[in-house]
Amino acid sequence: MSDESHTMRIRVLTLFPDMICEVVHTSILGRAVAAGILDVEAVDIRDYADNAYRKVDDAMFGGGTGMLMMCEPVYRSWEAAKTSLNDKAHTVFLSAQGRPFTQQRAIELSGMNSLILLCGHYEGIDRRVLDEIVDEEISIGDYVLTGGELPALTVIDAIARMLPGVLPAPEAYLLESHMEGTLEGPQYTRPAVWKDRAVPQVLLSGHHANIQMFRRLSSLETTRRYRPDLFNRLRLEPEELERLLRFTRQNEKGEREE
Ligand code: SAM
Repeated sequence: MSDESHTMRIRVLTLFPDMICEVVHTSILGRAVAAGILDVEAVDIRDYADNAYRKVDDAMFGGGTGMLMMCEPVYRSWEAAKTSLNDKAHTVFLSAQGRPFTQQRAIELSGMNSLILLCGHYEGIDRRVLDEIVDEEISIGDYVLTGGELPALTVIDAIARMLPGVLPAPEAYLLESHMEGTLEGPQYTRPAVWKDRAVPQVLLSGHHANIQMFRRLSSLETTRRYRPDLFNRLRLEPEELERLLRFTRQNEKGEREE
């Protein structure tokens, strides 16, 4: 998260450039690209194959099912991306073995000027080229996907929305889930009653302080209910804990009476 406005330049090394281009030119990311806040280019690793068939993968030494992406095409595509970024770029490999991606890491990466995101496919990439070029490995969760393109887009999306000028105001992301170690509470829009379900009265009251209090308590309550691991890390003052208990009891009573 940076205060100064700059263009964030990202190069995505991939076997499926269309997947990247399609998404980064759509919706909020598309507007950030059009406004020059974000500059994303997909680099097709196949363009750097050293054979007429554009083959970039081969069988694994030692046997095993599936193919592995070879060192040289990956290395050469990385060199080209680096040159296009004036030789300065933090290189991230999207990998099921990487460190779990978090809002905190997205904030830190959003302060960088340029990034190279490397997407694996098939069984992955020969370890030697990873050891040569990669600064950091990021996983988007404890599951295995067919390729690194969706993880790369996830990282780009999470970073881009914190670049100055992408969202209408910094509050749009500062008050959201994971920024303060809590989840956002429930939100409502018109109509005020839908299928007999009424919006909490306090939100219609216009009383700013009460609304703020409701939002804080419902955020804590949501965190406690769905992510006890995050809740247990919060250091709440005894007063706030007491308020939360009262709030939870009131809500449970309300649910029983419905
Ligand atoms: N053989 C690898 C393993 O067991 O860890 C999985 C390879 S996966 C089928 C192909 C590529 O998808 C990986 O090289 C990586 O780039 C990407 N990928 C898969 N799951 C991912 C995850 N959870 N986070 C980030 N990237 C992932």
